[in-house]
Amino acid sequence: MIKFDDTAKSVFPAPEPVFLPINGSSQLYPVRRIYCVGRNYLAHIRELGNDEREPPFFFSKHRDMIVQNGENCAYPALTKDYQHEIELVVAMKSGGMDIPVARALDHVYGYAVGLDMTRRDLQNRMKEKKLPWEIGKSFEDSAPCGAIYPVAQVGHPAKGRIHLTVNGATKQDSDLAQMIWNVSEIIHHLSIQAEIKAGDLIFTGTPEGVAALQCGDRMVARIDTLGELSVTVV
Ligand code: MN
Repeated sequence: MIKFDDTAKSVFPAPEPVFLPINGSSQLYPVRRIYCVGRNYLAHIRELGNDEREPPFFFSKHRDMIVQNGENCAYPALTKDYQHEIELVVAMKSGGMDIPVARALDHVYGYAVGLDMTRRDLQNRMKEKKLPWEIGKSFEDSAPCGAIYPVAQVGHPAKGRIHLTVNGATKQDSDLAQMIWNVSEIIHHLSIQAEIKAGDLIFTGTPEGVAALQCGDRMVARIDTLGELSVTVV
């Protein structure tokens, strides 16, 4: 790979790095890639009418689509069915390829609450045409994410309430124990298709209760021990 030492040769300023705050620390977590698991809670697979036996699969978002806790999310273009998906986010500190399930958690730095924002009507249209989901999943402000809680503070949460309110009303309310594929299995599967590295975030899928949002709606997403993520649609 070509190494460019002389940044003065750049024709315009290089893109800014993207960071997430770390709970209880003044240090920051630099984000590299964002992967999301397609389907990981049975009740959500049923509410969308999908195949329950499919292995986990992944799609991507870009790091500059992250929205920080307390910020606003712009209602996106092209959709009339903009939906929330609360998800446990895994933040990697190392990685590799073909990571065995038994070693997967050694590569985790910490966990956060995230929102996999979705243009459901566009996602459904692409599914029908057997085209990529990208237009339904990867767009401006589509990846709100809260502070990273290091493993040293919270361990590896395998159960605990995952709960989202919109304007104070509960919309999604489940438990991490309902995930079909656990974090170790997700990391293992992802590492077969891609080389995982420090800074990679993995959104691990959403439980049932996804619903459409309007401008002005305030989402508050919480997972036991991982604090809260609050985002308003504008
Ligand atoms: Mn999702």
